[in-house]
Amino acid sequence: MSQKINNELRLDPVSGDWVVVASGRAKRPEVRPRGGGACPFCVYFTNKEAALGQIVVIPNKFPAFSLVRRGLPSSGLFQKMPANGFHEVVITKSHTKSIADFSLDETIELLSVYQSRYLALAKEKAVNYIFIFHNHGASAGASIAHPHSQIIATSLVDGGFLQPLKAAEKFYQQNKECLYCSINQAELKGQERIVAENSNFVALCPFASKMSFEIMIAPKKHSPRFERITEEEKDNLADILRLTLAKIKKGLNNPDYNFYIRTAPCDNKEHNSFHWHLTILPKTQTWAGFELGAGMEIITTPPEQAAQYLRKVKV
Ligand SMILES: [Zn+2]
Ligand SMILES: [Zn+2]
Repeated sequence: MSQKINNELRLDPVSGDWVVVASGRAKRPEVRPRGGGACPFCVYFTNKEAALGQIVVIPNKFPAFSLVRRGLPSSGLFQKMPANGFHEVVITKSHTKSIADFSLDETIELLSVYQSRYLALAKEKAVNYIFIFHNHGASAGASIAHPHSQIIATSLVDGGFLQPLKAAEKFYQQNKECLYCSINQAELKGQERIVAENSNFVALCPFASKMSFEIMIAPKKHSPRFERITEEEKDNLADILRLTLAKIKKGLNNPDYNFYIRTAPCDNKEHNSFHWHLTILPKTQTWAGFELGAGMEIITTPPEQAAQYLRKVKV
């Protein structure tokens, strides 16, 4: 990996959002058809000398974030700074098997890798926020067909993940209760938007879903941090994640999707009012002018109908 990486973060003076300018990522390989061949990820499992297990974690060859030690934040109208951090790829062995087809043990192993990489990256001085996500299918942004997840660790506690954090804090200050615990309780009582539940987790279609068939998986017990899940909770999370993805695959004809974990920043603050969760966004629609320009999504399947439908899908 000898190419020079000069990715930078730019602050939009209008919205206050940071944008990553990562021109090197334009050189990423094209999506390859499923079924093997010259897959750049299969080689990690076929190389006998490497003797690797079921899951491999590698640095992203075309990172959006990387360790940079120069360049100070600028000021004024056009603020920018180096996109400092880490960008890793978590590759599972099979070229064709997606998480929806995983066994319980395979899913637990994947979550364990998420957790251990999180804990390792959180120790890095430059890291204040870690984002774990998975893109399934070309329209969901997977540039390589071989199933893989990604972990981005950054110094910046900002961007889209700041908004839910602030909303949870505000709700807590006003109600002395956690926003997500309140949602869980109300949804479990009403049952209308529940897709599945087990002893530690609930999967539901949010009341104001941004995408048809959006699903949030959240722990029933209040916890700001994914990385603190116990072994028992991990078993339960694996079970509900696998079940939900299998229902989406079967019930919605194997759509592309994204899922991501929102957990409290690792910036030495407690963030006790936050409640970590995992969001799944099946690609059931494309955002167009109104969604992009007015910031208001139009969804065609009400969350109540989506949940009822998915509840009934037998997997
Ligand atoms: Zn492959
Ligand atoms: Zn909570």
